[in-house]
Amino acid sequence: MGENCKHILKQLHRFISIELDEHEQAMIERHLEHCPPCHARFSFERYLCRLISLRAQRDSAPPSLRAKIMMVLRTEV
Ligand SMILES: [Zn+2]
Repeated sequence: MGENCKHILKQLHRFISIELDEHEQAMIERHLEHCPPCHARFSFERYLCRLISLRAQRDSAPPSLRAKIMMVLRTEV
């Protein structure tokens, strides 16, 4: 994994919540287009972010969703 990838992965959370400036958002977007490993990581993080915000909205996740989260965590880690 290159230095560039490390930088991208470090910023991934902020990229997903669109907290970076326009230049950085565009740079990461470009990188993800050309870097399958980073893109896979990005898809996974974005998925988790959605689940977390969904859970926050509903206070607690339904059991089926919880099972899904556990499954994802087990396969990805
Ligand atoms: Zn990369």
